[in-house]
Amino acid sequence: SDTDADTTTDADALRTPIVAVLGHVDHGKTTLLDRIRGSAVQEGEAGAITQHIGATAVPLETVSEMAGALVDPDDFDLPGLLFIDTPGHHSFSTLRARGGALADIAVLVVDVNDGFQPQTEEAIDILRRTGTPFVVAANKVDTTPGWNPQEGEPIQRSLEAQSDRAESRLNENLYELIGDLSDEGFSADFYWRVQDFQGNIGIVPLSAMTGEGVPDLLTVLMGLSQRFLKSEMSIDVAGPGRGTVLEVKEERGFGATLDAVLYDGVIRTGDTIVVGGQYDPIVTEVRALLQPRPNAEMRTEKRFEKVPEVAAAAGVKIAAPDLDEAMAGAPVRVVRDQTEEEVVAEVREELAEIEVETAEDGVVVKADTLGSLEAMANALEEAEIPILRAEVGDIAPRDVAVAETANEETHRVILGFNVDVLANAEEELETSDVRLFADDVIYQLVEEYEEYVDDLQRSQQETVLDQIVRPARFRILQDHTFRQNDPAVVGVEIVAGTVQNNRHVAKFQGSEPRRIGQLSGIQHQGDDVDEARAGERVSVAIDGPTVGRQIEEGDELWIELPEKHAKILEQELSDEIPADELEALNAYLQTRRKTDPFWGK
Ligand code: GDP
Repeated sequence: SDTDADTTTDADALRTPIVAVLGHVDHGKTTLLDRIRGSAVQEGEAGAITQHIGATAVPLETVSEMAGALVDPDDFDLPGLLFIDTPGHHSFSTLRARGGALADIAVLVVDVNDGFQPQTEEAIDILRRTGTPFVVAANKVDTTPGWNPQEGEPIQRSLEAQSDRAESRLNENLYELIGDLSDEGFSADFYWRVQDFQGNIGIVPLSAMTGEGVPDLLTVLMGLSQRFLKSEMSIDVAGPGRGTVLEVKEERGFGATLDAVLYDGVIRTGDTIVVGGQYDPIVTEVRALLQPRPNAEMRTEKRFEKVPEVAAAAGVKIAAPDLDEAMAGAPVRVVRDQTEEEVVAEVREELAEIEVETAEDGVVVKADTLGSLEAMANALEEAEIPILRAEVGDIAPRDVAVAETANEETHRVILGFNVDVLANAEEELETSDVRLFADDVIYQLVEEYEEYVDDLQRSQQETVLDQIVRPARFRILQDHTFRQNDPAVVGVEIVAGTVQNNRHVAKFQGSEPRRIGQLSGIQHQGDDVDEARAGERVSVAIDGPTVGRQIEEGDELWIELPEKHAKILEQELSDEIPADELEALNAYLQTRRKTDPFWGK
């Protein structure tokens, strides 16, 4: 049908905006996507919605049928909405395209009763960083006490059917949500009150369960896309396909395949493609393009059908040789107008943008996609945690081996975000001293690790403290000489610090501590003890001196500090020792440094 004259106008088409659905676990992402799919099937003509690999396409006609009076299809020329529907994969929000986010627009699902939760905050961070426009689906309005459900209705109609009591209960929750968003720096309001969607976030109260408010959500998404995304949706439908890998999956009969979302151009069977791999871009040829077979049993081998070509925006499974080392989140490019070398260079460049800076010593990081790896790297950089190695993929024995090579004990760890541990790596972990931290919330993962480091450092300091001579200053009490010598036994009061048995005892002459003997016993109220603390009165046995000659009643004595210990105490442990002990240390150092200013430095 294309004549030379109209190729340019025909080739330029508006593609479907790509929509991501994000939110905290259990807040209703899956139910919402099911509802959109289900009601689209009911309302639309058969086949109106298409199930893609990893995505569902809802055409404009279906949106307008579902939305009823809310949408006039004549107001729109975008073809519909493409929902990425692998929400288990919550980090797909970090998937990139052309240096930006893969999703053109996002729905942040929040349970109205539960409010903001860790993964909500994380999703907000990602949306903010990538500048992705979004709306908030305030889900589960039907759980409001006294709610009168209005299956599938627009929210205003549903609100009309509620008692004042139920509506004000819901509003309380919604205002709290507005407050949470404001704490995150977003001005938000009920979507019908928002005039300027560029500066404000629209909140759509809805129930994924009963479907009320879902027409509103589709309307808002359609409207936002039309107003703010239209200029970005213009694509050359005949141009080389560009997409992002969602997942690398083994399929019987095909080997490793890619589930990808195509955001630009077209991909055809037989095309040469370049895919970002673990080590290098992979150049291969498309053997088959697969779409789910409508109504097929998911378990049968015939669940896919081959299609000759797929145009953006769409989800597709790509079967091709040599895909084992492809990475989730990596770019896929069709080689058409450029040379293979040029496309390889472009893919390499795009991967380099995401490359994580590594250090000589540091932790090993594994994440499920390139985008989430990047988000992890950002979080670790902020926390000043160095990275030895960062890769996409499940935790393998090799990762344990790499982590073992870290010099510092605190670095002998693997931080896994949204990844599994392969069975043989599990064995390696058991026999090595490498610690694994795994979580699906980035900041929790970082926090867990930081707590571990704190604990480890504390216990290391405790061990050091156990081996170090502790400072103490004590005074021989008047009339408390129990034995003159061999050993001398006297009553003392500890002025500051900790007196430990077996330590050398010194007495200052000017600024010089003179060793006068060694402690050989401490008794507190008749019992032998290992140490005595500031404020206590104890009797001590000192081997060496004689009372009346080297020592006298009323004398001030010190535990003699080896220079090395004084230095460690002052420089590394001053936060760990009690205040009175620090006072004893400082008094000792001050006196000592009168004649030797660099002592213990
Ligand atoms: P996801 O983890 O975000 O995908 O959450 P799911 O969609 O799996 O939902 C978690 C639970 O909340 C499930 O038991 C759903 O049935 C329930 N749920 C989701 N949406 C609604 C809703 O609008 N109303 C009610 N009452 N329950 C809901």
